Amino acid sequence: MVCLDLKWKFQWYVGSLNDDSQPQATKVLMVIGVGVAGRWRLPLCYCLTDGTDAQLQEALLKSIISKLSQCGCCVVSVTMDGLAANQKTLRNLGCNFDPKGLVSIFPHTDCDDMQVAAVFDACHMMKLARNCLNEYQILKIPGVGKVKWEHIKQLHSVQTGEGLTLANKLTKAHVNYKTQKMKVKLAVQVISASCAKAIEYLRLTGSPAFADSLPTELFLRKLDKLFDYLNCRSAFGKGYKSPINAANAAARIGFLEETRQFLLTLENSNGKRLVDTKRRMFVIGLCVTINSVIYLTQKLILQAGINGVKLRYLLTYKMSQDHIEILFSIIRRRGGWCNNPTAMQFRLAYRAILCHVGVVPLTHSNCLTNCTDDILADENTDSSDLFVESAVALQDHCYATLLPTLSKYVENVATYIAGFVVRKLLPRLKCGQCRSLLVDADNINAPSSSFLQLKNNGGLVTPSAAVVRIVHIAERNLRAVTAHDKPIYTIAKLGSKLESMVIEDVDISHIFGHTTHLEDTLDGIENHVSSLTRQVVKFYLQIRKFHIVKSWNISQRGTVVRQKLTKLVLFSNQ
Ligand SMILES: [Zn+2]
Repeated sequence: MVCLDLKWKFQWYVGSLNDDSQPQATKVLMVIGVGVAGRWRLPLCYCLTDGTDAQLQEALLKSIISKLSQCGCCVVSVTMDGLAANQKTLRNLGCNFDPKGLVSIFPHTDCDDMQVAAVFDACHMMKLARNCLNEYQILKIPGVGKVKWEHIKQLHSVQTGEGLTLANKLTKAHVNYKTQKMKVKLAVQVISASCAKAIEYLRLTGSPAFADSLPTELFLRKLDKLFDYLNCRSAFGKGYKSPINAANAAARIGFLEETRQFLLTLENSNGKRLVDTKRRMFVIGLCVTINSVIYLTQKLILQAGINGVKLRYLLTYKMSQDHIEILFSIIRRRGGWCNNPTAMQFRLAYRAILCHVGVVPLTHSNCLTNCTDDILADENTDSSDLFVESAVALQDHCYATLLPTLSKYVENVATYIAGFVVRKLLPRLKCGQCRSLLVDADNINAPSSSFLQLKNNGGLVTPSAAVVRIVHIAERNLRAVTAHDKPIYTIAKLGSKLESMVIEDVDISHIFGHTTHLEDTLDGIENHVSSLTRQVVKFYLQIRKFHIVKSWNISQRGTVVRQKLTKLVLFSNQ
């Protein structure tokens, strides 16, 4: 079984022109097949044209579907993005995009008893949803209230002002996305449950700008969950990201149907339904995709299957356009990251790819904080660190009174990060008593834990009051020594000095309350409690440094010009 991805891409200006009667090809139309039951994807055809239209696409699709069925492959769905020509192609094939009578399946060319489902790429629809909200600024949910883009802008400015984010990825690139509007990442990180949670937190803590943000949260949450359902990649995914199977199919279909109704009732600020405005494509596209996913779930999982193949689970990611985008990325890479290859370059790259299956596209990977070098950890016992520290500790350091105080916002975020620090530390600790000192489930009701409480769906670790206190001291020290206007390498230079400054301010003998663990484990000048404190500080600072460096990088980045200058310059890293 195959999902077809169809897309045209690549524009070029130089081509071989031997015959004047033929127009010069400026684009290429490509179709790629993706296995629904197996793990494979294969380019099926490309077509050099000077611009595609519905007739060409329809003829091409029909011939591919019929050729595939001749070799025993059954096409179950066709994926496209929301271009007008693509919509027309699907309408010609037998779909109907009138919101009153949506038809998302069309008859199979060769087999009368089979149908092919039309899917609009979910990633693309999320970008359109984001653009729509930005364009109209206000969307209305009847009976609930107004969804406002302003809330997202406000959230960004609050986060920038406080210097810490509420566990979401919002940056200036997400708010001013216009120069990079093709990036899916920037859209789905705005329309996300983590942004909804952050806005909810600000509403609950009484920020005046967020007093009416409930509809915005509802909108972001619904679309985020829908996107997870329409984009599940792994058979082992958890929660919303788990694949559709026989056990959860009924609940999934229920949610999808409810969301379809929700989308169809959305209105713009004048009370006109979105499906009647010119920005209707994301609503129609998502509804068509929902219908198709429901249809495929029923056919492939609940009923007898298609063409004798019944699935245990359905991965909706197989129906996304990512596969063809990745192929384009590979082709661009072969041309030295060239956006506009000539027809000749494209053909050579295509041929080379068929010969070298296994050329991988660029993956951007971030590295996280790594292992420790202290006595509590299993590996890399390195005691030299101890002496460095004691040398620094000899310096006169008593800034505690001068340290900046933290706002309630920052305290809450720091506590949330503390939970993550504890979670990372727990499996590395050999001593059971130390482990128990780090965690305290009762501490969830502390005033600085309200954000943690809000974020928790059952999987988060609650740090003990002592850990929270250590982390708050660390944050205050960090803010005292890192100035916003200083270049970033000053932080790198701080190194373990910052750690020892924090440890100086922490009262080791009392921080963990009435425990005798310090005396019990005393060995020379070292003991478990101070070592534990040092570990907490170290992990916390690693995470914070990472964030500071990242924010600094973003602030230093110039305007993104790739989209504007794409015909003039070759870009390798934007
Ligand atoms: Zn211990």
